[in-house]
Amino acid sequence: MSAATPAPRGVDAADSFRDDSFPLIFERSSPGRRAARPPLVPGASMAALLGDEHLRSEAPRLPEVAELDLVRHYTTLAHRQFSIDGNVYPLGSCTMKYNPKLHEAVAGYFQDVHPYQDEASAQGVLTVLAELQQDLATITGMDAVSLQPAAGAHGELAGILMIRAYHEARGEGEQRRVVICPDGAHGTNPATASMAGYDVVEVPTGPDGEVDLAAFEEALNPQVAAVMLTNPNTLGIFETRILAISEAAHAVGAQLYYDGANLNAIVGLARPGDMGFDVVHLNLHKTFTTPHGGGGPGTGPVGVKAHLAPYLPTPLLVQREDGSVGIEGPRPTAIGRLRSFYGNVGNLVRAWAYIRTLGLEGLRRVAMMAVLNANYLRVRMREAGYTIAFDRVNMHEFVAQPPEGIRTLDLAKMLLDYGVHPMTVYFPLVVREAMMVEPTETESLETLDAYAAVLGQVLRDAQADPEAARAAPHSTPVRRLDETGAARRPVLRYQPPSG
Ligand SMILES: *Cc1c(COP(=O)(O)O)cnc(C)c1O
Repeated sequence: MSAATPAPRGVDAADSFRDDSFPLIFERSSPGRRAARPPLVPGASMAALLGDEHLRSEAPRLPEVAELDLVRHYTTLAHRQFSIDGNVYPLGSCTMKYNPKLHEAVAGYFQDVHPYQDEASAQGVLTVLAELQQDLATITGMDAVSLQPAAGAHGELAGILMIRAYHEARGEGEQRRVVICPDGAHGTNPATASMAGYDVVEVPTGPDGEVDLAAFEEALNPQVAAVMLTNPNTLGIFETRILAISEAAHAVGAQLYYDGANLNAIVGLARPGDMGFDVVHLNLHKTFTTPHGGGGPGTGPVGVKAHLAPYLPTPLLVQREDGSVGIEGPRPTAIGRLRSFYGNVGNLVRAWAYIRTLGLEGLRRVAMMAVLNANYLRVRMREAGYTIAFDRVNMHEFVAQPPEGIRTLDLAKMLLDYGVHPMTVYFPLVVREAMMVEPTETESLETLDAYAAVLGQVLRDAQADPEAARAAPHSTPVRRLDETGAARRPVLRYQPPSG
């Protein structure tokens, strides 16, 4: 650094290349530096271009940096992230599978389509969306699908609102006040039911890891509006009594909701519709490989049996008699609009590309490999000294526990020092010190072996040196964080040092 270019504010020159003193972009700011200048029409001022009323009265407080500083800053940050492109990431219930790069190219073909374009000139993308709707209906065994919801939880809300509208239309809106969820349910299930105005009743998991059928039947009565389930359940276990469950629920007039966020275990092999479910949502950002994490954009299409189709959110895509695809606006029975336009179209196109690339046979293989990989890792974890909760043949995921006296949180942090991401921890709540592992079909045998070896190593390390375990991670840019504080009192914008 020459004398003419002083170290940017907040950065000690001698330390500025060290990884552990990585400054904020604001701290790299130096007045007058620019990453880019928009080409202005010669002689025209910004005011003339934009109009006075669009000009700010004071300059925005943005960092002033050169393009290279900007690129290095964000490239370095990007390299610090755990991501599926960089690391093993076996988060149970999240299905962190590889997102094929081919899908990016396919989505790119549609980047110039505009939602305000008229139908006739957008037949390409509308046909893709209509095909996806049809494919998802076939895969789930449902009669109609809406692609609108922008996340799994959003799809759940759509589904429960449709069930509510159905009961109201039959004059049973007042009577049906309750939604039943198993105690292992994903947190979004009871949250959705409660947002839609229902009381939630929890049913316990039995000793075999499946819903306790006797307790379930006892909870059923004509006040129940819906039962929310997933199968395989969040323990990764297939509910073998699902037909008895669906029969009992329907016998009291309740609707059966399928949380299809994780369809990986059964895609192409079994269908929620055939198990008796009336509504299902899917997370395309899990099973169908559209990118997820970082808060979106997600996609949570919702599918229904014919008796619920009148309540689907609008607008709907409809196949016209001449073969073209049209858009149908509001209708009186619908629960209304959930999102602008037709959903997250870029991601819907990616999911379509995935399904069409694999075909039905390919999807079946995905499910079988996902189940095989999870069972292989379950056995390897047991051999490495972990306890398996409900140790039986599982589906796409399973739940393990460390030996007595060892904390899951410590092991999870220790894994970071080995460059791998931990599994989902402390979920489901029904298992003490839960470690929920879902390797997915996209990991190779070598990767699974390496992950199992690391899991064995951290357990031995934690047993040998509990003190060091509690202090892990040791090699990451930040160590243990105040996670509660980060959630409850987040600092979301730069606060310049005072004075
Ligand atoms: C991920 C997940 C959800 C919620 O999906 P979001 O897109 O995060 O809203 C719901 N249920 C289950 C079982 C899940 O794994």
